[in-house]
Formats: sequence, C-alpha cells, structure tokens
Amino acid sequence: MGAGGRSSLPRGSAPSYIWSVTKQNFLSKLTGSFSTPADGNPTVVMVEAAFKAANLNIRYINTEVFPDGLHAAVLGAKAMNWLGFNLSAPHKVKVIPMLDGLGESASIMGAVNCVVNRDGKLIGENTDGKGFLKAFNEVLDPKDKTILIFGAGGAARAIAVELALVQAKKIIIVNRNAERGEDLAKTIRERTTAEAEYVNWTPKFAIPAGVDAAVNATTVGMDQFDGKELDIDFDSIHSNLVVSDVIVNPPNTHFLQEGAKRGATTIDGLGMLVYQGMIGIKYWTGLDSDQAAMRKALEEVNI
Ligand code: NDP
Repeated sequence: MGAGGRSSLPRGSAPSYIWSVTKQNFLSKLTGSFSTPADGNPTVVMVEAAFKAANLNIRYINTEVFPDGLHAAVLGAKAMNWLGFNLSAPHKVKVIPMLDGLGESASIMGAVNCVVNRDGKLIGENTDGKGFLKAFNEVLDPKDKTILIFGAGGAARAIAVELALVQAKKIIIVNRNAERGEDLAKTIRERTTAEAEYVNWTPKFAIPAGVDAAVNATTVGMDQFDGKELDIDFDSIHSNLVVSDVIVNPPNTHFLQEGAKRGATTIDGLGMLVYQGMIGIKYWTGLDSDQAAMRKALEEVNI
C-alpha cells in the first residue's frame, strides 16, 4: 500500500494476510479489551506476549469502558476494523444486542467475553467456560460430579454451561440476586442434561454435603472491588472438596487460602485466563499461541 493510498486489505479478520506483514506496513492490526475497572486486568501482557512470540504485528489495547460508553466502544472497534476484542465485567451480557450475531455456546450462555470480526460482522463468542474447563480438568473430571458455583454473572454462566455440557451431574447456583440465579439454573435445566438448582445466598453460607467442587465466579476477592471475603462458612470446606476461583488479581485469593488451610485441592484463575486467551487468539488469527510465553508474561508482572 502506498503512502496515503487506499488499503487493499479486506475488511475484518482475514488470517491469510496477518503474518505476511513486512517492514513497509505501518498498520498494526488491533484487538483489545473493554471493561471497568480495567487497570487490574493483566490480559494485555499475556496476549501481547503471544503476538510477540509469533512475530505478529497485532496490538491488544486494554481500555476502560464504562457501561454508558459500551455501545460507542463497540461501534468504534467495528469502524476501526479491529480483529476483535474481549469483554470483562460488567459488559458480558449487556453487549449482546450491540453485536451482529452469536456463536453457539455464547447463545446458550447469554454471555459474550470474546468478539470476533468476521468479514465486518461482529460475532460474540465465549471462551471463559472453555478456558475454565481446560484448567479444571487438570485436577478433576467434572463428569457425574456435583458442582456449586457462587455467582450468576457472565463468568458463572459460561462455567455452568460448559460443566453441564460435559455431563456434570448437578450444578448448584448460589447468588445474591435471586432472579439472576434462578435464570441461570433454568438455562442449565432447559438447555443441557444436567440437574440444576438455585439456592439463596444466606449469610455465612455453608457449602452443603455432597458437593465435589465449589467455584467462586463472583467479583469478590479482586483487589479494590466488592470486598475480599466471600460471605460463607469457611469451616464447611473439607479436604475432599476442590476449591476453584476465577479471580486473577490476586490469584491466591482469600477463598483459596481458606480452602488450602482445610486441605482442599485449589485451582486459581490463572490457568483459566491463559487457556481462554489462547482460544481467543485462535478465533482472531487462526493461530495456536505459545502457552509458556503467555504464562511467563503473567508471572513477570507478578499479579
Ligand atoms: P459480572 O458483573 O457479570 O458478575 C458479577 C457476579 O459477582 C454477580 O453474580 C454478582 O452477584 C456477584 N457479586 C458481586 N459482588 C458480590 C458480593 N459482594 N457478594 C456476592 N456476590 C457478588 O462479572 P463477570 O462474571 O464477568 O466476572 C466475575 C469475575 O470473574 C471477575 O472478577 C473477572 O475478573 C473474573 N474472570 C476471570 C477470568 C479468568 O480467566 N480467570 C475470566 C472471566 C472472568 P449479583 O448478581 O447478586 O449482583
């Protein structure tokens, strides 16, 4: 392309030209993230490490987008031909009417964390649950297990649906907001073969007997956000329980620390983060990425 000339590149993502970038091409392809608060989100270092390791001229821009600016941000990404973008709290559900279409799993979950520009159309996908499942499977096969999930937001919906799709026996949803909790349990019952139940989050909630794994999929535990401690009876955790958290900043949350003290097997949010990042990069570029480089980049920023 000559200086000031019109780009001959097709609109949207087209993996075939991404890696033929030469020194004369000054146009980086763009990806990124819309969330708030955004300053504690380490995804940028992980994804840019993957692009660098693969020698791709693609950037990942971490942006602070407030709820009332989400629609403008989505239209902006489309106008600028971004390859796609991630969404984090609180945008995963509200973004849906702003998109051109949904992939299959995102449509069941009703939550989008990864948008892919396919020929100029913004299509919502969900990589959270798939990333969670890959990390969870390294510790416990969810088939025929009873799994309790704290939360009913975007991350919880993604995790619950993926666990149900791989034949978890029962999903128990515990959430402050009953309407959101009931709705998620109903989705699982109606769209998968798993049993599902919403249970009211009473103060000092005790994890019931018979639960194989408890997952914190709320925002509780994040630095500077929603408090550090789940309102649960930590003495209901025992050594046969798997205790899992989605929080990455910090990864060793209060919930995981209390679990470890009582001999439970713990899973932090970092494995989920790396795996969902790899799945997103594959959607945007068609490429597999360097898992070790991504994890190393996260470790270097010491989250
Ligand atoms: P949402 O805003 O969609 O949902 C937030 C959830 O947290 C809701 O269920 C809400 O309950 C609950 N919640 C908030 N404050 C409290 C509180 N004080 N006590 C109990 N429950 C509370 O957020 P997301 O689902 O998108 O994200 C949740 C977390 O998951 C974030 O911290 C995010 O960073 C993390 N995450 C990590 C990933 C990883 O790869 N490790 C991937 C995706 C997300 P209510 O409905 O009652 O308001």
